[in-house]
Amino acid sequence: METQVLRSLARVSPAKRAADGSDMEGPGGGHRKRSRRISREKELDSFAIDGEDSDSDLDDIFLDPSVDPATLCPWCDEPLPPNPTPHLTSLIEGARRRSYPDDRPTNPLGLRAAPMVFVSVCQRHRFERVWIPRARKRGWPTSIDWGRLRGRIERLKGELKAIIDDIDEDFVPESEYSTTTNKQERAQCRPRKENEFWQDVVKNVRQQGSRQTTGVRGQFLHFNKTQPGYYGELGYMIIHQTLCDFFPPASFDPIAALPLTPADFIAHVLVPEAALNLIMEDLDLPRGDALKTLRDSVEYGVAMFPVDEGENG
Ligand SMILES: [Zn+2]
Repeated sequence: METQVLRSLARVSPAKRAADGSDMEGPGGGHRKRSRRISREKELDSFAIDGEDSDSDLDDIFLDPSVDPATLCPWCDEPLPPNPTPHLTSLIEGARRRSYPDDRPTNPLGLRAAPMVFVSVCQRHRFERVWIPRARKRGWPTSIDWGRLRGRIERLKGELKAIIDDIDEDFVPESEYSTTTNKQERAQCRPRKENEFWQDVVKNVRQQGSRQTTGVRGQFLHFNKTQPGYYGELGYMIIHQTLCDFFPPASFDPIAALPLTPADFIAHVLVPEAALNLIMEDLDLPRGDALKTLRDSVEYGVAMFPVDEGENG
């Protein structure tokens, strides 16, 4: 199922999301420009490729002499971000190898190629120009040390194990529960019951009604709160794999994850819980603030750290 989630996310490009009207700003972000001066802002917002060049714009016919053409995208002539990520740089290098020189008035260093060669470059530089300054302002990382993630998650093992072990008696047949637990002991400390991600699962399950609980997995495909914030898709993949190594789904007590399967429990409770702890460490935030960051930075993470890019500086 997890791979399905990833695939479905991968298909939703930022352009698509903007076109759908699901604002990347999230709640309270009503300050996005909705200028009627067509193309420029709109293009920037959607990171989309405009099929027709707006040659009618005087600006577009000649290069402003104060502009260094090396700072422009060789294909669309828009300004590149001042500090392109390694991902953008490698996209540019890849596309450059499949392009031809095209010294034009708007860009003496211009290149020419079929649109499919550079479409991902232009989407990416538009995304970075808008989102990297926003992310920096909020303190969200623009690069992540993926190699250290496993070790950092390993240090959370005890805490995560406590959540797995705190079986929720509301979803376990009475007979099974009373033989395996001591209610008085449990009343003191309820790491799972108190966990926000578990509470979301419970709410979701109750909304669907008990009759459907076994079909819960399909419903969760749209449950984007389980995305690990700015860690994005790549972060999801690494965190998820690491957790499956530490807590193999097959090794779960059969009642431990109810009403979820162990695999869904990992995806919807342990992955976001691990990510939340990583964010608390990264930004030195208390849990509540980190939870807000985790939720606010989901769209950024998905676009910034997609899964198919492998190494991401
Ligand atoms: Zn471009």
